[in-house]
Amino acid sequence: MSKISIGKRLKRGGYIALLFSLLLTTANAYTTERVVLVIIDGLRYSEGLGDSDHIYTPRMAALAEQGALVNDFQNDGYTYTSRAIPAIWCGAWTEINTFSDPACSGSSNSTTQLPTVFEYYRKQVNQPASDCVYTLKDLCSWKASFDENYGPDYWPLYHAEGSTDTDVWHETEQIISDLAPHFLLMYLADVDHEGHSDNWDNYLAAIQIADSLVGKLWDVLQADSAYSGRTTLFVTNDHGRHDYDFSGHGDSCPGCCQIQLLAVGPDIQAGLLSEEPRSIPDIAPTIGELLGFTAEQSTGTAMLELFDGTSELDSKPNQTPSSIRFTKIFPAPFNSELSIEFELNTSESGQINIYNLRAELIWTNTVVAALGNVRTFSWAGTNQYQNPVPSGVYIIQLTNGLESVSQKVILLK
Ligand SMILES: [Zn+2]
Ligand SMILES: [Zn+2]
Repeated sequence: MSKISIGKRLKRGGYIALLFSLLLTTANAYTTERVVLVIIDGLRYSEGLGDSDHIYTPRMAALAEQGALVNDFQNDGYTYTSRAIPAIWCGAWTEINTFSDPACSGSSNSTTQLPTVFEYYRKQVNQPASDCVYTLKDLCSWKASFDENYGPDYWPLYHAEGSTDTDVWHETEQIISDLAPHFLLMYLADVDHEGHSDNWDNYLAAIQIADSLVGKLWDVLQADSAYSGRTTLFVTNDHGRHDYDFSGHGDSCPGCCQIQLLAVGPDIQAGLLSEEPRSIPDIAPTIGELLGFTAEQSTGTAMLELFDGTSELDSKPNQTPSSIRFTKIFPAPFNSELSIEFELNTSESGQINIYNLRAELIWTNTVVAALGNVRTFSWAGTNQYQNPVPSGVYIIQLTNGLESVSQKVILLK
């Protein structure tokens, strides 16, 4: 398996303006229409995708080869379920409140202080609960927020059935068939439960079951015309387990904090091992990026480095109203030479700038084009000193000084 490593650390401050222009020019350019998020409770990374032999997680390892794995993904807050799962929902470490839950016969239940991805999605994208489903085993599920701008009108459809992960999978399969929600969260609890039982074999067996269910889920999605080719799957977990005792968790040891983030789908780079450090709050804005909502109170940022430039390159450039545009950028990904076809709206000169994901300008050139004429420019994958640049994602920006358009490209050596 060949893995590509990109970007060490973004300098976020200097990146915002460029990112903003990138988002403006590539909005709705994703092929992804549906997102499925799987949370495997309490899977320690050393028995998951952190094991290079993938003994217990062969299906997820295969998906990681088709998609992207974040090499350094952390629970950066509380390494226990009741705080970490709400942090995944909210894209932030949120306070938890209690309320009398009519859906649980009025017994006391938990609700998040901050709004959740479900609420952001349902309100901003204007979808009914049937389009936003949360499957889990039969327990009184913790609820989303009572935020004044969001709240129960935008909660997901909680579908709690059965007592094992396999039961949850069968319910999920039914939901996919019956409702085909655009946003689905499947929560698998057994790995954590078996870990606490202090039985190593049962813990490993639970991991193998969870892995096989993720594989079955992906197979079902690929066989379903509503999902196939337009669904991004994320698989993560809330926390790991102690390095020194697999039966417990909850402190800041590496075993508890290092978790997994696997992404696979039409907009995700294939075979990417991303070196950009990430953490739980980054999941919600990444889902929002794909589904078209903003996780307003998230403290994280979308993991754009996982995304492939291909779908933007395939999209019709004239969807953007800008009067300057790329007409074609190819091949995608490119290996040695990238052809950039563009139009400027004046006969005056413009500029092509190429940035890496650290927002460093690595190449720039003045270009001239007659009004309405398509011009072609090629970039040989070098910096201004003619030295080859490494494999990775690059951002091509065309500007005439008044407006600019940008597209991501992938250099794959
Ligand atoms: Zn636990
Ligand atoms: Zn620990």
